[in-house]
Amino acid sequence: MKVIDTHCDALLKLQIGMREGSELNYENAESIDTNLNRLKKGNVMVQFYAIFIEPNLPSDEKWQHAMEQIDLFYSEVLGKHSEIKHIKNWSEISQLKEEEIGAVLTLEGADAIGNSLVKLRHLYRLGILSIGLTWNNANLCADGVGEPRGGGLTTLGKEVVSLNNENRVWTDVSHLSVRSFWDVMELADYPFASHSNARAICDHRRNLGDDQIKAIFEKNGLIHLVFNPPFINDQKKTATIPDLIKHIDHLCALGGEKQIGFGSDFDGITTFVKGIENASKYPALINELLKHFSEEQVKGFAYKNFLAHLPK
Ligand SMILES: [Zn+2]
Repeated sequence: MKVIDTHCDALLKLQIGMREGSELNYENAESIDTNLNRLKKGNVMVQFYAIFIEPNLPSDEKWQHAMEQIDLFYSEVLGKHSEIKHIKNWSEISQLKEEEIGAVLTLEGADAIGNSLVKLRHLYRLGILSIGLTWNNANLCADGVGEPRGGGLTTLGKEVVSLNNENRVWTDVSHLSVRSFWDVMELADYPFASHSNARAICDHRRNLGDDQIKAIFEKNGLIHLVFNPPFINDQKKTATIPDLIKHIDHLCALGGEKQIGFGSDFDGITTFVKGIENASKYPALINELLKHFSEEQVKGFAYKNFLAHLPK
């Protein structure tokens, strides 16, 4: 069964390798959970690639880091593998051939643009199709979930959301503070949690409360489940597929059967759900899900729900 995975951090690993002078081969690097061979083995049809910038970097170096990651996306991920196709418009997903893998570029935290909408417009031109205003830290757009001030969106952050709407780009709520979340929900045409779970099942700040989950579903948004054990299972460094299914059951009970999917966070996580240690293991997850849900439901989670909610 095909899979659409809406979050991974492979570009950061490629960038670290490049900066350290030990370049990684995207086709088969053992250290890359979403390397090409693993995507193929996992039947991944579309993989999202986040640009993630370390919050501690000096502000004037962040744009350079974003450019390096995008450069590696073009040169290493796309440039060396003709079977990986850059999805720059949502309509291009339906043009993928059977053996092709779609690659979507996303921004995890708007730190890199500083206060420059010129930089933002360049990112749209380079093909960014999903933007989370923050990672855990605060920036000029909004407060993230780790900022104790608990503020919401700035005027700049609101402008970014309205440009996302104009450009048919998702506004990703996964790392936002609670107040930022509600500000986004008021403004965003395309709200999206690319890698978050349910707080009622695992009470972690990175997860969404029931009121937040219902608000996303009511606005025709999507929630993609993350495979990071600390977000699945209270206080545990490991989790099982049945633990993950508890989140799926909960989201379905809140009306999300047709609005949920997967956003693994591979290459950004260091502990794993037992049996899903990298992208090649998706078939094992699918097989387990088929024991609990109908084939049509599992197809929905795996890729169809996303395709049914593409920004238009
Ligand atoms: Zn993240």
